[in-house]
Amino acid sequence: MFGTRLSPLISRRLVTIIGLGVALPALVLAGLGIYLTLQIARAVEDESARYNSYMALQVGEAFEQELMSVLRRSITRAENLSRTGADPVAVQAAIESETGEFQGAQLVPLDDLDGFSLLIVESQPLLFAPGEGDRRGQYFVGLLLRGPDGQVTGAGGWWMDPRGFLVRHLPAVTQDRLPSNPRLYGGFESTRRLSVTLFAGFGQVLARVREPGNLRTARTEPLVGPFEGCAVRVAATSNAPAVWTTRFVSLEITFISLMGMAIVLATAFGLRYTIRQLELAQIKAGFVSNVTHELKTPIALIRLAVETLEMRRVGSPEESERFLRSIGRETLRLQQLVDNILDFARLEAGQRVFRFEDVDLLAVVHETVESFRPRLEHQGFRLDLDLPPSLPAVRGDATALSHCLLNLLDNALKYSRTQREVGVAAAARDGAVVVSVTDRGIGIAPGDQRRIFEKFVRLDTGLVHDVKGAGLGLSLVDQIVRAHGGHVELESRPGEGSTFTLVLPRAGGAEASQADSRQRTGS
Ligand code: ADP
Repeated sequence: MFGTRLSPLISRRLVTIIGLGVALPALVLAGLGIYLTLQIARAVEDESARYNSYMALQVGEAFEQELMSVLRRSITRAENLSRTGADPVAVQAAIESETGEFQGAQLVPLDDLDGFSLLIVESQPLLFAPGEGDRRGQYFVGLLLRGPDGQVTGAGGWWMDPRGFLVRHLPAVTQDRLPSNPRLYGGFESTRRLSVTLFAGFGQVLARVREPGNLRTARTEPLVGPFEGCAVRVAATSNAPAVWTTRFVSLEITFISLMGMAIVLATAFGLRYTIRQLELAQIKAGFVSNVTHELKTPIALIRLAVETLEMRRVGSPEESERFLRSIGRETLRLQQLVDNILDFARLEAGQRVFRFEDVDLLAVVHETVESFRPRLEHQGFRLDLDLPPSLPAVRGDATALSHCLLNLLDNALKYSRTQREVGVAAAARDGAVVVSVTDRGIGIAPGDQRRIFEKFVRLDTGLVHDVKGAGLGLSLVDQIVRAHGGHVELESRPGEGSTFTLVLPRAGGAEASQADSRQRTGS
């Protein structure tokens, strides 16, 4: 392509400088930001999970302490009696009198303690044994009793429903027994921001203190001793630092990603804009040199012909005729170029005024083709006309439409090689009138078929350096036809030729009135 592509040097240098200089460091920084934030988030979550696991163990121990304290309170009288050497009946009676929240008070003689398990709670032995038969699901829990000489005489205790105990004592345990000294986040974390859930077997929830805010860092620990089979899960509540740190981290990652994207987009758009500006500068330079060349060539030819005629250097009347025809041809070429440039300038400035009236397109086609015929014949082109006897009128500006047709004919001539045939056809088609110009020239690749209607675009066809042009013709045709409420269709195959079709709405149709309202066009 000529005129719209930057030289590879400029574009590559720009992409390298701007891309590497701005976008890459920004992306690297954004990536680093996300990586570090994720690391921090992971560290916070790990720490929170560790804390929850520690607290779950603490809850288990707190229940054991609570049980021990209830037992201690209840057994005091029996202990005192045992120490004074009272008989077992009196000790049993003392235990029964302190039943409290338990039932089935018992004094177990030393010999019967073999089947009992032992748990040391706060350096004191807690005895327990699972119940059987009617007592299934219950546990016997008790403390050792000693005689006057300090010897263990047996144990006194009660039957307890462990699940009932857990449920009843959960609020007290979490409130009073958990270590409230925070271990995390410089004193931020506290037991007030913990959710504690008690589970019986198979994940059945027994009781809960506060709702969990994040289950990812929740940790579950099994309970032991008389509470075996149950478990406690500790999680952070929604106002815990671990939870809002995670939330903050997701926000930050979203923010960093958006910033990264914005920087990449801004760089891409900036880059595109800069390249476009450079392209435009190059296009302008190309346009000026094209137009200068386009103007100079016919002027030089005209001057040469005029000078030759003035000096009467022509040998025969046929020769002078040939010079005069050349002057006429070159003047026409000049006129067309100047018309194009002026039209283009007016359209760009929004000052092109179309005089809309009912136009007999057939007459416009005939007139334009006839005015062009000498050029066609001079260059050895065959002209095929396929025109109907009459056509519905279109609403439009006859001069502008003739100008369009002239540009298409001019291109058909310019972009043909050895197959010198041009066809002009017109027909009525679904509420529109169409005029087409066909050539058997070099054709246009599908990828270029839209771009050629842009201003200043000239394709690098191999012919372009021999064939003159400013890259304005098709852009004008397109703008003029659209100002008429119509459009241009293109069918083309490289190496086989092209057909450009002007589709114009018939006079009186909806599209025509739309065109009326746009008589004064902008760029
Ligand atoms: P110009 O002919 O002055 O270069 P145009 O706007 O008329 O400008 O055409 C733009 C480009 O489209 C041309 O440079 C040429 O590459 C391509 N083109 C136009 N008409 C034809 C055609 N009939 N066959 C092949 N290529 C064409």
